[in-house]
Amino acid sequence: MMKTRLISWIAMAAMAAPAAQAAESLVIEAEQFATHGGWQIDTQFIETMGSPYLIAHGLGNPVADASTEVEIAEAGTYKVWVRTMDWSESLGREGGAGRFTMSVGGKQLGGELGKGDSKWHWEEAGTATLPAGSTTIALKDLTGFNGRVDAIFLSRGEGVKPPEKCLLEDRIAWKIPGAPGSIEDAGNFDLVVIGGGYGGLGAAISAARMGCKVALVQNREVLGGNGSSEVRVWAKGNLPPSEFLMADIVREIEDQAKASPAPAEQFVDDKKAQVVAAEKNITLFLGHHGYGLEMRGKEIASAKLLEVKTGKLKKVSGTFFADCTGHAFIGQWAGADLTMTEKGRMGMSNMWMWKSEAEPQPFREEPWMLPLDEKGFPYPQRGHAEWFWESGFNNHPIHELEKTRDWNLLASFSAWNAIKNHSAYTARDPEKKGHSGAKLDWMAYVGGTRETQQLLGDVILSDTDIDGKKAFPDGCVLTTWSIDLHVPHPVYTKANPDRPFIAKAIHRHAIDNKIGYPIPYRCLYSRNVPNLFMAGRNISVTREALGTIRVMKTIGMMGVAVGRAAAICKARNCGPRDVYEKHLEEVKHLWRMPGAKRFTSIEELSKELDTVAK
Ligand SMILES: Cc1cc2nc3c(=O)[nH]c(=O)nc-3n(C[C@H](O)[C@H](O)[C@H](O)COP(=O)(O)OP(=O)(O)OC[C@H]3O[C@@H](n4cnc5c(N)ncnc54)[C@H](O)[C@@H]3O)c2cc1C
Repeated sequence: MMKTRLISWIAMAAMAAPAAQAAESLVIEAEQFATHGGWQIDTQFIETMGSPYLIAHGLGNPVADASTEVEIAEAGTYKVWVRTMDWSESLGREGGAGRFTMSVGGKQLGGELGKGDSKWHWEEAGTATLPAGSTTIALKDLTGFNGRVDAIFLSRGEGVKPPEKCLLEDRIAWKIPGAPGSIEDAGNFDLVVIGGGYGGLGAAISAARMGCKVALVQNREVLGGNGSSEVRVWAKGNLPPSEFLMADIVREIEDQAKASPAPAEQFVDDKKAQVVAAEKNITLFLGHHGYGLEMRGKEIASAKLLEVKTGKLKKVSGTFFADCTGHAFIGQWAGADLTMTEKGRMGMSNMWMWKSEAEPQPFREEPWMLPLDEKGFPYPQRGHAEWFWESGFNNHPIHELEKTRDWNLLASFSAWNAIKNHSAYTARDPEKKGHSGAKLDWMAYVGGTRETQQLLGDVILSDTDIDGKKAFPDGCVLTTWSIDLHVPHPVYTKANPDRPFIAKAIHRHAIDNKIGYPIPYRCLYSRNVPNLFMAGRNISVTREALGTIRVMKTIGMMGVAVGRAAAICKARNCGPRDVYEKHLEEVKHLWRMPGAKRFTSIEELSKELDTVAK
């Protein structure tokens, strides 16, 4: 089935390409392989390196091969390149952490790949003489330490080389079989929500129940963002009594985690999926990455999507959009006013877990690992390395995000090496066996991010507002977390002064967590893109106020507030700002309704709004 699809896709793309080039060259995106084996799809860095890619995240054990079949149009000798990078070299350590080999038509090409170049590049893999027809391409991981493959390029053309420019928009221009082709229309919606974390879920579910047609776009295969089983952050923030019933929907999707991180099932990915699936008004674009926009003047007209596993391009048009990406990508692309703290932000975490086995569990030491001892990191007690394994404080939060994630992996593997092979924290082993039976059980390769950019609304909430308990007429979502900002941990940073990877939280208890402080609605829409809402860590706040609003139950409630405001916009044919200026009592009326309240259509909702006293 997969093979047929891939071949027909290549054939379709070939029709669009110049005939000679189509016959000579072919690109195969690794994430579109029919079988991924133990390789995982990584969609975190598409904006900077151009594509989803396959990563061999085996915690030091080589993962099972990935393979696919491709249709070779004409027999001949093909030169083969693979797009990859050497991540340990990119961090200034010895290279080759993630080496792999590749075979074409059952024969290994050349030697080891993935070593020696710290940037994403096309590495020459060798040549293969291939008959016309179907042939198999396979990737063999050699290390289990995060080797990565973006794409494979085959050509039998004299002097032909793979394209140099590889960002997503460049790939669309390649016109080579296997590269992304034309955009298909995937529908028109009242509200397009991009990002399926707690903010996106709250917005999509609440708007759908108000009678809006909603598109929910999420670039992973699971919903929940940092609160999913991929990242395993437990949702915090209290849900105190409020005149507005924004918490109901959050209770429907919240995790059952007893710790963070904890076993995958406690993050209830399935429950979140079921709640969304039950909403007939939601069209879910799971595994779709929003990569760009079409504008209509200052407004967003549509979002362009890449279906990760097929490479299909689609567009979803909408009356209103909600940026729930965390990073503020949608606002950024739309030209929305925004701010970013240049240096000294909160970083990214890749948490991990370990367990004790009866049998000895070897862990391979590698030359690229940091020579750590107990001064460099705290003991991962109770079998997990928690939120404070955090780095990237001074890295660019988008352009250098892959480097930050990789530094987290390197530091974590190095710490585990110190425990397993260099007697660090020997006395702390609960089994009293010097950690001989200790085994890495899980490590997130999807990083949890905390701070990227803030989109600016008509109010930019600050800590001064919060400290002064400033009352806004549109205060709606209760934030209860303290003002909690992270800095490199002064103790462990002494051992790793250049690139700290352990953080310390500085809490300022500015809010009564049983009562909460109401975030104004005007923080939830863009001040200069007229049809853009936002819910999540990218709303209109200063970085100090981000310290409190960024926990996920609070963010889920922001989503609910946005979903209901979007329904007012639809019913009253107005924009997000008008909801505050002209329809505040109406939106408050909706916010007071239980989460389960439904309207069958916008017309029915309008009739209800007509009953609200002005
Ligand atoms: C290690 C760690 C510990 C934390 N501790 C806590 C805690 O204990 N409790 C708590 O409540 N909060 C905690 N936080 C904060 C909290 O996790 C974040 O602030 C929160 O997840 C932000 O929610 P969000 O919906 O804005 O973004 P996210 O949770 O990041 O969700 C956004 C989703 O959008 C997707 N996306 C992004 N771009 C696109 C695109 N272009 N197209 C399609 N999809 C896209 C992403 O893949 C992601 O799944 C912690 C954060 C970290 C990293």
